Order: sequence, then C-alpha cells, then structure tokens
Amino acid sequence: NDLHDLVRRAIRSVPDWPKPGVTFRDITPVLQDPRAFRVLIDLFVYRYMRQRLDLVAGIDARGFIVGSVLAYELNLGFVPVRKQGKLPSRTVSESYVLEYGNATVEMHADAVRTGQRVLLVDDLIATGGTMLAGIKLLQRLGANVVEAAAVIDLPELGGSRAIAATGTPLYTVCQFG
Ligand code: 5GP
Repeated sequence: NDLHDLVRRAIRSVPDWPKPGVTFRDITPVLQDPRAFRVLIDLFVYRYMRQRLDLVAGIDARGFIVGSVLAYELNLGFVPVRKQGKLPSRTVSESYVLEYGNATVEMHADAVRTGQRVLLVDDLIATGGTMLAGIKLLQRLGANVVEAAAVIDLPELGGSRAIAATGTPLYTVCQFG
C-alpha cells in the first residue's frame, strides 16, 4: 500500500557496489527523511503492538538502528546480534557461509532467557544466511523466535524462501527484484 511505497521510494539503489554487477539497496535516505523513518518504524509498531513479545533482537549494524527504535516504541528491551569479537561478556556464536568465506554472529549468553518471545530485525534479506544464523543463535539460547522482520526482501536470492522453510515467519516491508 501507500505507506510501504513511501518507504520503498526512499530507498536508494546504488549500482556496482560493493562490486561490479551488484546493486546495493541503501536505507540511509529512509533514516535521513523524518517522514519515511517514522512510517517505517510505525509499520513495524502497528504489526507488533498487539503481539505478545518479550524482546527485540537486532542484527549488526543496520538492524540495530531499526530494532532499537522499535524496541523502545514497543516498551521492550533490545539485544544485539553482533559480528564476531565485539561483545565483552560470555558469548555464543554461530558461523555461516558467505559467497566468499565465512561469517560469524555472536550474542551474549545471558541475552535471552528460555521461552522468551523474541522478534529478530535486520535491514535486508538477500541469501538469508545472516538472518538464519541469528534465528539459530536465538533458538540455541532457548528463545521463541516469534517472527523475523526486515525492511527489504530480495526474493530472487532465495533467502525469504529459506527462512520460511524453517518455520519462522518472516515479514518484510518491501521487495526489490
Ligand atoms: P544475506 O545474509 O541475506 O545474504 O545478506 C543480508 C545481510 O547483508 C544483511 O545483514 C544486510 O545488512 C547485508 N546486505 C547485503 N546486501 C545488502 C544490500 O543491498 N543493502 C543493504 N542495506 N544490506 C545488504
């Protein structure tokens, strides 16, 4: 609808970044425009305000921006899913395969308690590897991942399908082909 379109139109497409042939979908213009930023957050707020949630988790780094504002608005706590080596206390980690090499995400071992109902947020789903690693990590800590949410889905890369296949519902505000 109109509000999803307003957000979609504020996203900047940058050709050949970070490498030739790749188009990067840049959400910084959404954050920079107070109206688009508010609409984006409010779309998530209206979706989740009537759901029973205990915590919002956000993925390093753009998932922190959207996730922490959303957590604040929903009166929930926020926990970060970080890139390797950033968290000071005891961590659990999950590695996943990238196009070239590996990546690892980490959470504090005491970030969630068993049975807590968690919403996991990031900016974009491409292959889904990052979101899937975050879901696994939360589940290993005993969380009930109620839903995964992102601003953008790139359905042609198969990530949203792979996430849906695990049984965790996925919500995205807009799609790019
Ligand atoms: P995936 O793990 O699904 O292949 O890639 C998604 C992750 O990479 C997300 O954490 C996202 O921030 C980042 N990412 C990959 N491509 C893009 C892009 O075109 N735009 C943005 N904003 N993030 C991207």
